[in-house]
Amino acid sequence: MKYISTRGQSPQMSFCEVLLSGLATDGGLSMPKEYPQISAATLDAWRRLDYPSLAFEIMRLFIDDIPEEDLRFLVNKTYTAEVFGSAEITPLRTLKDGLHVLGLSNGPTLAFKDIAMQFLGNVFEYVLSKQSQTLNILGATSGDTGSAAEYAMRGKYGISVFMLSPHNKMSAFQRAQMYSLQDENIFNIAVEGMFDDCQDIVKNIQSDLAFKEKYRIGTVNSINWARILAQVVYYFKAYFAVSDHNEQRVSFCVPSGNFGDICAGHVARMMGLPIGRLVVATNENDVLDEFFQSGQYRPRAAREVAVTSSPSMDIAKASNLERFVFDLVERDTVQMRALWAEVAAGRGFDLQTKKIAMQQQFGFTSGRSTHGQRIDTIRAVYAEDHEVIDPHTAAGVYVARQLSQAGETMICLETALPAKFEETIREALGADFAVPRPSRWDNIEQAAQRVQVMPNNADAVKMYLRENLDKIID
Ligand SMILES: *Cc1c(COP(=O)(O)O)cnc(C)c1O
Repeated sequence: MKYISTRGQSPQMSFCEVLLSGLATDGGLSMPKEYPQISAATLDAWRRLDYPSLAFEIMRLFIDDIPEEDLRFLVNKTYTAEVFGSAEITPLRTLKDGLHVLGLSNGPTLAFKDIAMQFLGNVFEYVLSKQSQTLNILGATSGDTGSAAEYAMRGKYGISVFMLSPHNKMSAFQRAQMYSLQDENIFNIAVEGMFDDCQDIVKNIQSDLAFKEKYRIGTVNSINWARILAQVVYYFKAYFAVSDHNEQRVSFCVPSGNFGDICAGHVARMMGLPIGRLVVATNENDVLDEFFQSGQYRPRAAREVAVTSSPSMDIAKASNLERFVFDLVERDTVQMRALWAEVAAGRGFDLQTKKIAMQQQFGFTSGRSTHGQRIDTIRAVYAEDHEVIDPHTAAGVYVARQLSQAGETMICLETALPAKFEETIREALGADFAVPRPSRWDNIEQAAQRVQVMPNNADAVKMYLRENLDKIID
């Protein structure tokens, strides 16, 4: 399998090259040259597989530069009951009204990002050691990505993580989860600013190509193709969990931010998985809902982004949407360059003429929720099902219930556990409500924390990187 850029001006790459490179050299995103097509007979054979075996079968179709026995070793090492709480890895449950919920948040940091990031940690370590190289991951987080990356990379040979987070802006639990890590290869940097300031610092440092090369700076952000690929697996697993033959169609509703999670659903559908609809659920930051309703993509300015009770979906633009639009315009790279030139100029674009194709050919539809609707949904699910869902999953459940059609089998993806967002759960279920928390996190807020507070200044962060990395390089 070769990978091409959505902008059409980068050389083709192999999986491992894509893994380590981030953006393509022309500024586009890497995409598989074609989607492997899965026959009905193959689907039947895959029904019986356990999670790691299914992951192996799917990934080997996209990875031809890691020997199969090594890939099998990597997925077996990643997808264990020990790391994800059960041999099923992604258990499925059904609410009283028939809506299915796919449990994706039983990994180390209690959000779905662990499923891809744990694989990324193992495959990074493998590829770097083969190449006798090291990588220093630099990232910015508003909470979930940073902790998933740190728990995936901690103690890994040849990898360090420098993670910027906004000082005092994350929940107490999220802070404790990240800052309590004492591993020598994990560096938490709390920037005196907002999440966008952290992201600007990362971009600033990455645009210094000499620095980036000398200090071997890499990323694990959501445009990383390996993350999307790892997420494709659970769409298949969930499909098999609710169907018993391949004539059945199943729809998915996905709480969305950067369009990474649902992009994996699009890939699964393009491979021939019988997916009916792919429902994009947004919060008040509804740039994606607007796109799927109107065909207009209008990225917001950072200052227009509302801070909501589903913070991991608070986005101004959805980076991975470029991957879907690439397929939508039939992989016309001239048009892609024109569209993203508009985005770069701060304007956006209009694909109204493609609205019918989005829905009928690609199965997409969308909805949005407000804070009040998510709170009501958390209450309703608790009242009917005695189950606590987190505010992001609630955004999905709300939209799934609004849009699901008679006879449609719908699976809502659970993107985090409520323990990460206790404040919102207490708002919904009462100030004294004991939010369920896996016991390994008891009293995490009291653990010693290891974090460097720094001014909102790229040069200061660069200096800090230099000091720490010169020691390692010497
Ligand atoms: C990252 C995240 C999302 C959004 O996922 P995308 O892949 O960016 O669309 C939704 N919910 C939670 C809890 C997250 O951590």
